[in-house]
Amino acid sequence: MGELTGRVAVVTGAASGNGRAIALRLARDGADVAIADLDDAGMAETAQAIGREGRACLAQRCDVSSKADVDALFDAVAARFGRVDVAVANAGVVERGSHCLTMTEQEWDRTTGVNLKGVFFTLQVAAQRMIAARTPGRLIAISSIMGEWGNATSPAYCASKGGVKQLVKSFATAVGHAGITCNAIGPGFIRTAMTGPVFENAAMERFLVDRTPNGNIGDPDDVAAVAAFLA
Ligand code: NAD
Repeated sequence: MGELTGRVAVVTGAASGNGRAIALRLARDGADVAIADLDDAGMAETAQAIGREGRACLAQRCDVSSKADVDALFDAVAARFGRVDVAVANAGVVERGSHCLTMTEQEWDRTTGVNLKGVFFTLQVAAQRMIAARTPGRLIAISSIMGEWGNATSPAYCASKGGVKQLVKSFATAVGHAGITCNAIGPGFIRTAMTGPVFENAAMERFLVDRTPNGNIGDPDDVAAVAAFLA
């Protein structure tokens, strides 16, 4: 029996990268897992891997930047599992080469819509369901080292990841009375589809390794281990 046996977890952006690793780790620890993403093929792979862990999986197509989609996700989780114990707001996007001085309104809205609005409503709807069911749940969001650094060519990403840190502090004060915790994980650079183009640049990889105390670029399983601890 794992530490999360009998629990139900929801992980957004679980079709790849950190989200997939988190979903698999929570399943390995005993949870049944609902995964949400826009990538149906990636979700199918994650769902199969969760099945191989002997856990139940619900795969729900969901655009986290739509409040209606987030409501539908948690309705589907309630219908299938009857409870939610852990919610991981992981889905995220980064704008590429959108300089502060030239970024368009559309680019700004897309990144902040997924990374900030999407995280806000994932945490809000999950918290509402947990409080209604008197579940001492766990809310987790994925921030980033880019919430500390600045970058001329991904200003909306940096702003949204800094915003996630503030969001979890607000939620923690809003839900603590109900025995619910809310935390953010702030990974450094991790090898995923999102950072593929970064690591194609050898000079950039060297720059990042030189700024990492143990000299290693992180792996999605490192992020998943922290999520499992918080869960
Ligand atoms: P990834 O691109 O592999 O995964 C992101 C997932 O989110 C994809 O499966 C994508 O389809 C999904 N997604 C995108 N928009 C969505 C939407 N509107 N609704 C639902 N799902 C959506 O990248 P990743 O590196 O695994 O990123 C996961 C999280 O980790 C993100 O929040 C990212 O900002 C954060 N993060 C990544 C790193 C890194 O170095 N890779 C570092 C710090 C934080």
